[in-house]
Amino acid sequence: MAIEFNQSLQSYNSFGILARAQEMLRVTHIEELQTLIRSPAFKDRPRLVLGGGSNLVLTGDVKAMVLKVELKGKRLVREDEKGYLVEAMAGENWHDFVTWTLDQGWPGLENLALIPGSVGASPVQNIGAYGVELQDRFFDLDAVDLSTGQRFRLNAAQCAFGYRDSIFKHGALQQQLIPPLRDSALERPPAQKPLQALTLETQVDGPPIDLGLGLANRALITHVRFFLPKKWQAVLDYQDLQKKCLEHANPSPSAKQIYDWVCAIRREKLPDPKVIGNVGSFFKNPTVSSEQCKDIIAREPSLVHYPLLDGRFKLAAGWLIDACGWRGKSIGMAGVYPKQALVLINKGGFENPCTGGEVMTLARAIQTSVYERFGILLEPEPTVL
Ligand SMILES: Cc1cc2nc3c(=O)[nH]c(=O)nc-3n(C[C@H](O)[C@H](O)[C@H](O)COP(=O)(O)OP(=O)(O)OC[C@H]3O[C@@H](n4cnc5c(N)ncnc54)[C@H](O)[C@@H]3O)c2cc1C
Repeated sequence: MAIEFNQSLQSYNSFGILARAQEMLRVTHIEELQTLIRSPAFKDRPRLVLGGGSNLVLTGDVKAMVLKVELKGKRLVREDEKGYLVEAMAGENWHDFVTWTLDQGWPGLENLALIPGSVGASPVQNIGAYGVELQDRFFDLDAVDLSTGQRFRLNAAQCAFGYRDSIFKHGALQQQLIPPLRDSALERPPAQKPLQALTLETQVDGPPIDLGLGLANRALITHVRFFLPKKWQAVLDYQDLQKKCLEHANPSPSAKQIYDWVCAIRREKLPDPKVIGNVGSFFKNPTVSSEQCKDIIAREPSLVHYPLLDGRFKLAAGWLIDACGWRGKSIGMAGVYPKQALVLINKGGFENPCTGGEVMTLARAIQTSVYERFGILLEPEPTVL
């Protein structure tokens, strides 16, 4: 594994922001990474795990050692009467993986088509789109502890998935110890075991891994496994998909049809990062109590809001930003996408790109005006460095 010094990160972040990594290492083999972690040179060094860079805002050069995840491979782990257990390594492109599963005849990930980035980053913010979240299809994942080099496996509960959230986005949580995996346990094919037993296939090898500290910047996800049930059911709750069903007079579309529709809708609504730099939705959709929702509706009758099962309401962050007049506005080379106010864009392209500082100044100005008008503090979705 050769360290690259002073590496430009412009083509490794979907905003196209100019920034450099003092040191960058391409992770192509897990064992090499483990050796590096255990070497004295790596000990106590800050590091940044980098996938496709499509959920990152770089506000300066990166001093931490950048670990660029390029682990490749995907396979069917097993099939039984209930479904398919499918695995991909972290460096696989997410959309290519979704396409591959559908091509194999294993539906279930179609609503998540065309989300940029890598498989390894998909659990970090529990990616979601068009009524499906990663956690709905997730089985478990393997990761390497960046302080010890130990490999470990987490199931969904241990990942603590939430809306665009997981244990990989957090520091200190309550103490929870899990045993690390022996490397041999990871390689052993799980074919003879019932699916549910897979998560228990952990073997103690060294001190347990303490999830209590949270796993932000502490772990590099190496493999992610998904369970795709044979009893497939279309998820068509989203208005855009319902419209497609009506337009095509097709109330029971196949998974491939949904995949095509999702790709078409996304291409129409979102800027292609290869053409206009962006990180998708810049803010999370906020959740408010029913009282707060009623209060806002009394002042703003057209507020876009969706009831949640717990009695609270989810508001459309894009609508709030739009209502504050931000659509099409800009600060320096950072702008608000004219077609969708939730997306911040790089207006200067690759030649004259926005800076991370401009993006964050714009984001803070938006936060302030939404807070002053609605009393809601919007939370950014991407990782800001
Ligand atoms: C046009 C566009 C549309 C988008 N639409 C959606 C959408 O519909 N839904 C959605 O949820 N997101 C969406 N996103 C956001 C983004 O695609 C996802 O968050 C994606 O999972 C990021 O993947 P990445 O590999 O680019 O991650 P990166 O940007 O490289 O990293 C994101 C975070 O994950 C960490 N990370 C990355 N890889 C690993 C790893 N192997 N192990 C541990 N940590 C890791 C990084 O340290 C960082 O904190 C969109 C982005 C764009 C540009």
